[in-house]
Amino acid sequence: MIDTNSSSSSSVNSRPNVVPEPSSVNDLILETRDLGRTYRNGGHELTVLQAVNLSVHAGESCAIIGPSGSGKTTLLGLCAGLDQPSEGWVRLAGQQLGLLDEDQRAALRNRMVGFVFQNFQLIPTLTALENVLVPLELRGQNDGGPEACRLLAEVGLQDRLHHYPSQLSGGEQQRVALARAFVHRPALLFADEPTGNLDSATSDPIVEMLFRLNKETGTALVLVTHDPVLAARTGRVISMRAGRILTEENNVRP
Ligand code: ADP
Ligand code: MG
Repeated sequence: MIDTNSSSSSSVNSRPNVVPEPSSVNDLILETRDLGRTYRNGGHELTVLQAVNLSVHAGESCAIIGPSGSGKTTLLGLCAGLDQPSEGWVRLAGQQLGLLDEDQRAALRNRMVGFVFQNFQLIPTLTALENVLVPLELRGQNDGGPEACRLLAEVGLQDRLHHYPSQLSGGEQQRVALARAFVHRPALLFADEPTGNLDSATSDPIVEMLFRLNKETGTALVLVTHDPVLAARTGRVISMRAGRILTEENNVRP
């Protein structure tokens, strides 16, 4: 049955906050259980996510694929604590998001998570460089200039540091968003179609950068993508249909 209260956290509170056993579950960076999201509009209910159980280990990479409207962006938003589930729960870095208030969720996100939005969500009144510095400044770190410049150079934007988002193409904005998501070396990076606006010449270095970060700093990657080449580089491909996980397959490593 559909939960009639789309913003309810009752199912979160009714579950004990299970402490993971000191075993392999210990290194779970992300876990969802029976996750659901129902929107209510003018008396109509629309369930866009149902019974999603997802586990991501520290340092892992996985791709989420599926047709438009299958709930991929909704799932990412719930996992990052940007949206609240109607059913089930999300545990991020050992913390049940439903038990945290908005400030606590924001603090956890800032500490642990990088997020590349499908529509970038750069701050229009800040330059490319200033946008990349935001996650560091939120942590009280004011010496990030060189690292932010280095990352912007790595995504090919060394000549666009002082451009505002409105002065950048879609692909350039996407690359600024990637640099911003990386700059604080998150334990978990969510990226919603990170190469969606890029041609292959531009996306290749971005993809290399994603997997280098995954390898070198152990950042777990959860990538929504339509790109079969990108999906094949991850460790696991999760396919969604109509708000549910349809299949999960490990990619064979050479
Ligand atoms: P995907 O990323 O796989 O394309 P989404 O997660 O963006 O899918 O959307 C899943 C479904 O949820 C879509 O049918 C969309 O119309 C619906 N949806 C998304 N946001 C809202 C909202 N705020 N209110 C109502 N329906 C929404
Ligand atoms: Mg989407």
